[in-house]
Amino acid sequence: MEKSETQILKEKLFRTKKNGWENIEENKKKKIFEFSKEYIDFINEAKTERECTKKFTEILENNGFKNIDNLNTLKAGDKVYYINRYKNVYAAVIGSDDLVKGFNIIGAHIDSPRLDLKPNPLYESNELALLKTHYYGGIKKYQWVNIPLSMHGIIMTKDKKIEINIGEKDDEPVFTIADLLPHLASEQNKKKLNDAISGEDLNILVGSIPYETEEEISEKVKLNILNILNKKYGIVERDFVSSEIEFVPAMKARNLGFDESLVAGYGQDDRVCAYTSLKALLNIENPKRTAICLLADKEEIGSMGNTGMSSRVFEYFLNQILNKTIGNKPGLLDTCLKSSRVLSADVTAGYNPNFQSIYEKNNESYIGHGISVIKYTGSASKGGASDANAEFVGYIRNLFEKNNIAYQNSEMGKIGVGAGGTIAYILADRGSDVIDCGVPVLSMHSPYEITSKFDIYNAYKAYEVFYKDE
Ligand code: MN
Ligand code: MN
Repeated sequence: MEKSETQILKEKLFRTKKNGWENIEENKKKKIFEFSKEYIDFINEAKTERECTKKFTEILENNGFKNIDNLNTLKAGDKVYYINRYKNVYAAVIGSDDLVKGFNIIGAHIDSPRLDLKPNPLYESNELALLKTHYYGGIKKYQWVNIPLSMHGIIMTKDKKIEINIGEKDDEPVFTIADLLPHLASEQNKKKLNDAISGEDLNILVGSIPYETEEEISEKVKLNILNILNKKYGIVERDFVSSEIEFVPAMKARNLGFDESLVAGYGQDDRVCAYTSLKALLNIENPKRTAICLLADKEEIGSMGNTGMSSRVFEYFLNQILNKTIGNKPGLLDTCLKSSRVLSADVTAGYNPNFQSIYEKNNESYIGHGISVIKYTGSASKGGASDANAEFVGYIRNLFEKNNIAYQNSEMGKIGVGAGGTIAYILADRGSDVIDCGVPVLSMHSPYEITSKFDIYNAYKAYEVFYKDE
């Protein structure tokens, strides 16, 4: 049937909202699924910022990137990286244009919400050994009990650094936090969701066998655990004070759904954007503008610290690029940053049909509708948002439309129902054009976050065209 004039007019004038899987070509679908398979392997292998940094360094080295500190000069086409304190990655492909014209930067973060150990974590209570934790990032605490947890991180003893990773392999033990049984939970059930499990309730069960001895001594279960750790790693209790141990969900990331269109797994905020932005950089050869991928730590607790986005180590890396190409001079970096374009590659909330009253359906991100472009985050008053200029939003949408990238423009929930922030404002402070642009996620910050393979692939393609654009 032929379309009526009114139908044609409507199609011309209305903003169309489209499910990306509709009418998708078979070979494109295949590519999307293949890309996601590698992504799932990655998130199963790299569950913390340190493990991401290690894996990304390996990937960069294997793709011709060199540590910038080992090079005296740089020329167009060169590929370099810098690792900041094992937790923070910067990588660049040097452009042929005058660097003063600015860089194309994509910034994601590689820290995720989790349970950190307190400095003095180990104790015994009623013949069980437990570890005290201090949660990191915004979590709904009730979600973190009764799930398998694995232990990741490092312990600095007096004379060595010990790397720990227990609970990921099938033949290794896991750990968990024991919640109250429903039979005895009538008081707990009356509490507000946020108070039902308190921060001090997040104590991880790690053992129950007492140290074997005829002697009458106290805390034999704790002693037995310390003895096991001492035999295995050579550590004593005091060594926990100089450790960074993170407990994360031990579940494996998997395909989700009968159609396997989704990915379920821990830490996709923001490893989904970190992975796609780094993978996209690997495709960049001889760009005009210098393409830079930065992967920050500490975003989930406010971007402070020397490995967070607020750290000036990023400027150190950029200054090194200037020193080794055109020669640096005072104020030059400010000029470069002022002319730079930045994508703050961070996830956003996907529309969740279980909680429809929270969303304003005209302005949300939909799973399977492509990458989300977010002009401003912030709270009810837009407080705390960097708010991209319309000119830059216009540039981004034209770029995506020209390159057939599926994208959507959204906020996050109804006004006043909550707030969220990203690293966008920090880079905007330095004078660059910045906009948030990332993958929509369901159950964000939970132990098992959900993304769409279609959106993951579109993020990868969006980041690639952004790096390349002149
Ligand atoms: Mn994030
Ligand atoms: Mn987050």
